[in-house]
Amino acid sequence: MRVAIVGAGLAGLACAKYLVDMGHTPILMESRDVLGGLVAAWKDEDGDWYETGLHVFFGAYPNMLQLMGELGIDDRLQWKEHTLIFNQPEKPGVLSRFDVPDIPAPINIITSILRNNDMLTWEQKLRFAVGLLPAIVRGQKYVEDMDQYSLLEWLRMRGVDERVNSDIFIAASKALTFINPEEVSATVPLTALNRFLQERYGSKIAFLDGSPTERLCQPIVDYVTERGGEVHLKRPLKQIVLNPDSTVKGFLIRDLDRGEEELVTADAYVSALPVDVMKVLMPEPWKGIDVFQKMEGLEGVPVINIHLWFDRKMTDVDQLLFSRSPLLSVYADMSNTCAEYANPDRSMLELVLAPAKDWIDKSEAEILAATMEELHRLFPNHFGGEDPAQLLKSKIVKTPRSVYTASPGRQACRPDQATPIANFFLAGSYTMQRYLGSMEGAVLSGKLAAQAINQRYEHGVSSTTPPREPVAV
Ligand SMILES: Cc1cc2nc3c(=O)[nH]c(=O)nc-3n(C[C@H](O)[C@H](O)[C@H](O)COP(=O)(O)OP(=O)(O)OC[C@H]3O[C@@H](n4cnc5c(N)ncnc54)[C@H](O)[C@@H]3O)c2cc1C
Repeated sequence: MRVAIVGAGLAGLACAKYLVDMGHTPILMESRDVLGGLVAAWKDEDGDWYETGLHVFFGAYPNMLQLMGELGIDDRLQWKEHTLIFNQPEKPGVLSRFDVPDIPAPINIITSILRNNDMLTWEQKLRFAVGLLPAIVRGQKYVEDMDQYSLLEWLRMRGVDERVNSDIFIAASKALTFINPEEVSATVPLTALNRFLQERYGSKIAFLDGSPTERLCQPIVDYVTERGGEVHLKRPLKQIVLNPDSTVKGFLIRDLDRGEEELVTADAYVSALPVDVMKVLMPEPWKGIDVFQKMEGLEGVPVINIHLWFDRKMTDVDQLLFSRSPLLSVYADMSNTCAEYANPDRSMLELVLAPAKDWIDKSEAEILAATMEELHRLFPNHFGGEDPAQLLKSKIVKTPRSVYTASPGRQACRPDQATPIANFFLAGSYTMQRYLGSMEGAVLSGKLAAQAINQRYEHGVSSTTPPREPVAV
């Protein structure tokens, strides 16, 4: 069966991969000249990589780990020490660690919290544990129901000390969703926390050993094309062309090299586009359909990724760091964490600026100046003395609409991969799957879309949605 897919982010790529495994022929078309969407990366004039986002992988990413295993590239993940490291705003330059011992979950996480005495008092820890209990005991159903509340509302309802919010959850919320606890749905951080509490290595972090475009996306393309699939760059979808019964007749694709348009036809069609683009390209007759109407409630969140190259080593920490600064979210010295970016003499800091709504329209000079001010607090030793660290160069990548904004009530807006249109499917980390707006969520959504296509065509296509069986993931 021939399946046309638009969007070569991780969702579209994973969908194509699992379709070839099922014996189908995916034709994947991407608008840009680079693979990966939100994980895309480029080389600058000096041969240095810069990326759309600082990306880390977690032990609790079963579908991503399985995919990389199936591609034979799981050795490209560089696993770090099992620890979470936070800056302490009140003690510039001092780090606080939550070291997770190698014992079964959830005792490993609980031990790491109990052992850390820098950030929380015993009373705060106790009230935190008691507050979290229903999320742990009553499981994912309870966590899903909490989508009506913001994280901050939920923490207050549960009597958790405000200090836990300011010390832990602002950092976690910014890192996971690029927004603050008063804006984020309680479901999102609680889902992540539950995964970490259930899996021994769930919160263990890995970095890819090079750029995601070359080291993760290209191997998927090679796998797909070696098995008869096709992947084309610079082929934006212009229009979803419909049959009289509102099923898809074809994808109208523009070929940017030849300046021509072509109606690409197939047995099934997949949008792996960002939700904001899908909303714009939504055919008029579909707009009244409940599932598509609800997608109007989803919108990408702005975020900025900053790269700074220095004339010296700023830190020897080989791990992700939670800055706990108002401007920044997480950061890492990529010259330590990533083999291909390694440099024993000079640092390349990659930093995520979030929330970015007040910064996305500002000039690069303003963003850089504010970031450097923050760095004086994060690395006082390198800026205070007579020989301060020199910034050699910088790159700033702005993404005005990235993953869906995970505010309260969004769960009800996230569509299933199978749609009411018989030959049309959705993939993308914004679609409904249990791993939020993440690389794991994107891969899982692509796999679920491939399974939904396979299942629907096994049962024969009709113009109404056939019932979906639950699939194991
Ligand atoms: C700064 C940042 C940091 C992040 N950090 C992490 C992290 O540490 N861990 C983690 O798990 N996740 C992280 N994420 C989230 C993760 O990157 C995304 O959830 C995931 O990559 C989304 O994949 P996707 O395929 O669903 O969407 P996208 O990557 O958005 O893919 C959509 C694709 O569609 C293409 N497209 C758009 N319009 C058209 C058109 N008209 N025709 C054809 N193609 C089109 C786009 O170019 C793109 O390639 C981060 C994201 C950002 C921005």
